[in-house]
Amino acid sequence: MTDTPFGFETLQVHAGARPDPATGARQTPIYQSTAFVFRDADHAAALFNLQEVGYIYSRLTNPTVAVLQERIATLEGGQGAVCCSSGHAAQIMALFPLMGPGLNIVASSRLYGGTITQFSQTIKRFGWSCTFVDFDDLDAVKAAIDDNTRAVFCESIANPGGYITDLDAIAAIANDAQIPLIVDNTSASPYLCRPIEHGATLVVHSTTKYMTGNGTVTGGAIVDSGNFNWTASGKFPSLSEPEPAYHGLKFHETFGPLAFTFHSIAIGLRDLGMTMNPQGAHYTLMGLETLSLRMDKHVANAMEVAQWLENDPRIEKVTYAGLPSSPYASRVPQICPKGAGALFTFAIKGGYEACVKLVDSVELFSHVANLGDARSLIIHSASTTHRQLTPEQQEAAGAAPNVVRVSIGTENAADIIADLDQALAKATA
Ligand SMILES: *Cc1c(COP(=O)(O)O)cnc(C)c1O
Repeated sequence: MTDTPFGFETLQVHAGARPDPATGARQTPIYQSTAFVFRDADHAAALFNLQEVGYIYSRLTNPTVAVLQERIATLEGGQGAVCCSSGHAAQIMALFPLMGPGLNIVASSRLYGGTITQFSQTIKRFGWSCTFVDFDDLDAVKAAIDDNTRAVFCESIANPGGYITDLDAIAAIANDAQIPLIVDNTSASPYLCRPIEHGATLVVHSTTKYMTGNGTVTGGAIVDSGNFNWTASGKFPSLSEPEPAYHGLKFHETFGPLAFTFHSIAIGLRDLGMTMNPQGAHYTLMGLETLSLRMDKHVANAMEVAQWLENDPRIEKVTYAGLPSSPYASRVPQICPKGAGALFTFAIKGGYEACVKLVDSVELFSHVANLGDARSLIIHSASTTHRQLTPEQQEAAGAAPNVVRVSIGTENAADIIADLDQALAKATA
């Protein structure tokens, strides 16, 4: 072994895994077991006291899931990671240790449609609230933060429009307010963007998407940078003060940079129960092995398709940040130097009706509410994922009625273009 740190392509195959100590199995086994036998009563007590790290019960920890957690933490450059049952679970799990009744978050108005619903409606039931602002307006972001704000939330490459957030500028604002920046890095993946290097405290993922990459399982992850001082401001008592839900343990004092990770397992998974199962972790581990190879192909195909669309007279507008015409093109080298992802929208002349006809006419594309699959996917956001939003929210989120969203797959680029060509002919006839 050399002292040179391994490259991304090596880590995506190896990080967190070692041959199975019991059998020598080279691939990570699926430990399909609910519970794990204690060596003796002292061992059991040490595990429950978090004095020894080990396995108790798979709602909390599982050896297959643990390999995935370590791999994702490594790929994101974080100290620790916790996996859970979906991307939406990851968002709740990320906020849970920080929040309480009466507290709020400040989030970008450009987010996955389901996240806007979760933040504008569902979290109110916990007494939490969210203020949405345009993250290109840095003064508005600053102004939205008040004494009760406990996090700033955005996506690195924002769904559905492929908008790219100036993470460094937003991180500086969060830092001044002594609150963490949480970045949803789902659409970029750690291969294209590493939010922690731009100042993010926590990174959340829907592993359902590019990380798994084959459309088989839902999953989520929260990665902790380990860089945030949970004690300094007095705003995060669940991490800095004796935690009544864990017999008065002080997580930050006890676990230092792993405080958030331990809290998320010992309290978050224990009491919210949004656990990833070992079979699901297995599929995601399989997917991660080829993440960089897939992302390079996704990006190359997206670029070709976006360029073709931009030059087509049936198209009004293409939002892909990889195009020089995009207002966000200048952020690509800084935020996602290996490419602007493979998710973007385009507006068709002919509006809502033409969009609906287009999704009904594609043959190679699948009309589904998903993204980040090896298959090319298409959806008309205004009539589906963003249907619950007001017209103003749809517009702000980049999901206007005349817009379709595509997630460009890893197929042959000419085949993808040919399918769009024939479907556009029908849609605009
Ligand atoms: C899909 C998605 C989510 C939600 O993830 P699920 O796994 O479907 O719960 C959150 N954020 C982004 C950016 C997504 O694409």
